[in-house]
Amino acid sequence: MSTLERCWGWNGEWACENEYPDHMVPRDEFYLERSRRRGLQAMCKLCSKSRERQNNPKRTRLVSIATKSVGGQKIFRALPKYRRREIMKKLWDANKDSEDFVISHKEKLPRIYKEINKNPPREKIIYPKEGYVYIFKNYDMDSIKIGKTDDVGKRLSAAQTWGRYKCLYYKMSEDCKLLEKNVHDVLFHRRVVEEGLGNEHFRVNLEYAKKVIDHEAARIQSEYDRESPRLVQASG
Ligand SMILES: [Zn+2]
Repeated sequence: MSTLERCWGWNGEWACENEYPDHMVPRDEFYLERSRRRGLQAMCKLCSKSRERQNNPKRTRLVSIATKSVGGQKIFRALPKYRRREIMKKLWDANKDSEDFVISHKEKLPRIYKEINKNPPREKIIYPKEGYVYIFKNYDMDSIKIGKTDDVGKRLSAAQTWGRYKCLYYKMSEDCKLLEKNVHDVLFHRRVVEEGLGNEHFRVNLEYAKKVIDHEAARIQSEYDRESPRLVQASG
């Protein structure tokens, strides 16, 4: 019989509560964690697994939809557990195969100063020329947002405070402001005009939007190459 250890639960909740109402759990039921004094995680395996499930971004998204659907968090929490489970299960079944649902925060997105191996300017400059033009899908508006940035990941996080966005494409350019402007001009007739939305949202086929960006980027690049030809090695 292994000795008992306290499970500290997670966020004031214990997944192990039914089995161990006094929170004293057999030592074997903990994952090892050497850096801790007792060599175990603070919570037992059951609680740890439950935390992982709850930290699942898809689940977080579902909970937020579920609470909205019943009229708010208070109402949702007041429902009996079986009702909450039913609602969640229904949502889960309806959405489990949908890619759109998960917004990955682990995606590797580029930063221009890292990519071109330069230090970012110390003072805030108004117009850093090199950067990216990106396409973010907006799942709430069923549109895409096309804009420019020096840091795609940061831009995406900022956008995600307004809605569900995912980065679908980005293109590096030596003059991202010009590239953005040209792309916006070409797609002008597909712009989504709606209060408070700014002028960067478009309803347009993704492949077409990519093509426009690539095409305009190549055009700008060729201008640049003409103005400042790459160094050619002098021949003997
Ligand atoms: Zn536990």
